[in-house]
Amino acid sequence: MLFDIVTIFPHFFDSSLKDGVVRRAIEADILKVRTVNLRNFTTDRHRTTDDRPFGGGEGMVMKPEPIYKALDVLKKEPPGARVILLSPRGKLLDQALAGELAQLQRLILVCGRYEGVDERIREHCVDIELSVGDYVLSGGEIAALVVIEAVSRLIPGVLGCESSAEKDSFSDGLLEFPQYTRPRVFNDWEVPEVLLSGDHAKIAKWRREQSLGLTYEHRPELLDSARLDEKDIKYLRSLGWEES
Ligand code: SAH
Repeated sequence: MLFDIVTIFPHFFDSSLKDGVVRRAIEADILKVRTVNLRNFTTDRHRTTDDRPFGGGEGMVMKPEPIYKALDVLKKEPPGARVILLSPRGKLLDQALAGELAQLQRLILVCGRYEGVDERIREHCVDIELSVGDYVLSGGEIAALVVIEAVSRLIPGVLGCESSAEKDSFSDGLLEFPQYTRPRVFNDWEVPEVLLSGDHAKIAKWRREQSLGLTYEHRPELLDSARLDEKDIKYLRSLGWEES
């Protein structure tokens, strides 16, 4: 999968792509990430990428021409890319959407700055407007990294153990159960006995109930669309859950 990031801060990504899962995926040639300096697509001496808003008001707006030119070039090499504009008013990124994006071969991520991007770019050049949460960042760069991390770990072969993405929070609509490792006792704090029992059925039941309980406690609205069987529903009802 190929990501192109269109940004006025290409160096922002230098260190962040050099560690962890993303780095390994890049080294394994499963993932390629190119940063594209928007200023290379300007024509004036000052390499201007922003200007004052029509109609007045605070702040600056990113000019349409450099972004248009960058996308025009990138869309041809190679073709077939989907263009994503990072934007607080976009569709909220969740695990299901990350999974859909992971099926694609090529994504171009456009990072806004200042007050955002001239609306005509969104209207004529963008396939998907994407938000990473209901808050405002100062630029799309961190949002682009969020997209790359969330999407790339769902590309087959990227995670060492394929099954670990399947058990992650949200993958079946629930939050993940709590995890523990050695030592068994730390500061008098003990690991739950059941995890040391070696009884796999019992452990699986405990983990499922923890997942259900945590989801009910922290994100009850997720239960409305989670995949639940009879036993799950019975357990949730015992906690006080009422289906909506
Ligand atoms: N004035 C705009 C915010 C601009 S923030 C508004 O009120 O909607 C500057 C840039 O940061 C945006 O163009 C976008 O690319 C990025 N950005 C900010 N918050 C974001 C979010 N929640 N998700 C994705 N991108 C975001």
